[in-house]
Amino acid sequence: MKNKKLNILVVLGILIAVVGTIVGIRSTLKIMQTTSKQTKLASVALAAKPIVEPIPTESPETTETPTPEPTKAPDITATPEPTEEPTSTPVGNGHIVAIDAGHQAQGNSAKEPIGPGASETKPKVASGTTGRTTGVPEYQLNLDVSLKLREELQNRGYQVVMIREDHNVDISNAERAEIANNSGAEIFLRIHANGSDDTSVKGALTMAPSSSNPYVSSIASSCQDLSQKVVDSYCAATGFKNMGVQNYDNMSGINWCKIPVTIVEMGFMTNPDDDTAMQDQDMQNRMATGIADGVDDYFGI
Ligand SMILES: [Zn+2]
Repeated sequence: MKNKKLNILVVLGILIAVVGTIVGIRSTLKIMQTTSKQTKLASVALAAKPIVEPIPTESPETTETPTPEPTKAPDITATPEPTEEPTSTPVGNGHIVAIDAGHQAQGNSAKEPIGPGASETKPKVASGTTGRTTGVPEYQLNLDVSLKLREELQNRGYQVVMIREDHNVDISNAERAEIANNSGAEIFLRIHANGSDDTSVKGALTMAPSSSNPYVSSIASSCQDLSQKVVDSYCAATGFKNMGVQNYDNMSGINWCKIPVTIVEMGFMTNPDDDTAMQDQDMQNRMATGIADGVDDYFGI
């Protein structure tokens, strides 16, 4: 019996040893597995590093981002430009008008030929007349109305070329005509006011070359047509006495012209009624409107 018991103990001991060995091996394997997992994680982490490294590559991208912003800013600046173009294009009527506000602060008594090839000469530009009642110089009235006329014509879709916008210039009458000729303008409006020793003389007139003018015979009839339409429209708008179209063949500012031209004598600054009326702002607007009406009529607008 004792031997049987011993045998059982021995068998049990062997079993325990076997089981213990198995458990030991298993735990060793587990540790190995864990280590390999950690190694894997580490290698993943290493592999992730290059992904992290591209982040600095992203930061240049962030530096690039401000660059597109300035690109956007010109876009915004560029946007109003096309907005302006369509606005001016449909408004324009395709006609170009040159305006000369007659005279300047100081006349120039140096002489120039009254036309191309002419032997007769006249002062380059006279000093003009003065309002007998208001004291306003003609060159100032001429520019005041010319600027209103420019605005009126532009509102109607005309392109306008101004010979002068300042009183302190020195441009002769022949030079004014040449500027208008070379400006691309189709017609030339010369804005003036009249003077007379007889203070009772009042009213408006326009000046044009006669058909026998040796310098501008090819445009004389167009000048007559323009002058007639302007004086009629002007007097209709202002109520000024209509003195009609008068022929002048000794005007340098007409004879040097290559485009239809008219001199508008808006009223007599030596007459108290005309002089006072021409300083009224509402009247000046009507004066500009009347001249513009004549231009519309000339172009058939
Ligand atoms: Zn004048």
